[in-house]
Amino acid sequence: MIAILAVAQQPPGPAPRVVTPHGAGGAPSDAVVLFDGTSTARWTTRDGQASRCTVEAGAMVCTSGVGDMYSTVKHGDAQIHVEFAPPEMPGHKGQLRGNSGVYLQGRYEVQVLDSFENPTYVTGMLGALYGQAAPLVNAARKPGEWQSYDIIFRAHRCDAQGAVIQNGTLTVLLNGVLVQDHITNKDTKGGCGDGPLMFQDHSGFKNAPVTAMKFRNVWFRPLN
Ligand code: MG
Repeated sequence: MIAILAVAQQPPGPAPRVVTPHGAGGAPSDAVVLFDGTSTARWTTRDGQASRCTVEAGAMVCTSGVGDMYSTVKHGDAQIHVEFAPPEMPGHKGQLRGNSGVYLQGRYEVQVLDSFENPTYVTGMLGALYGQAAPLVNAARKPGEWQSYDIIFRAHRCDAQGAVIQNGTLTVLLNGVLVQDHITNKDTKGGCGDGPLMFQDHSGFKNAPVTAMKFRNVWFRPLN
């Protein structure tokens, strides 16, 4: 009883900022919307040219050869939402099935791969932080179906000279299922500094077949 009273007497603190949550397919009121189903204006190629992805039925369709896709707005600490649909490619296996990737700050790949009944190395499957961390579970939907990533990204902290003094962290939900639980990002090669969200064109990789990857409802909320 004493403990309960002690809690009740704490000063209430400032009221949290109001954010209007989204309905189906939408973004919260304070989000930076990168793709809302109508235009690729907030995406470019690596060299800053207009995106070569097409917009079809509310989806951004990026077919092999368009090049990696860079958001025009950069992010640091952020809550990131991406929906994607790998195509059905029954004639292929492993990394050669529907493969893309969501690169945080353009540097750290949260893998996008059709991992439904499609085994591959565990740090390269859907839900993995590529090359670093396997997902806790395989929560992949079937190819052709829409899937979602919700990512809580904390960037590396650096000193005035740009050296990393504290590693960033990552929490990832795939289709609403926790797959990365506040893991440490061990890749410090890129140092600090905001970067774009990047979607991978996997066509540069050996024997990669033509792949038409779809994205929709892409947004982030800065967390600084
Ligand atoms: Mg990939």
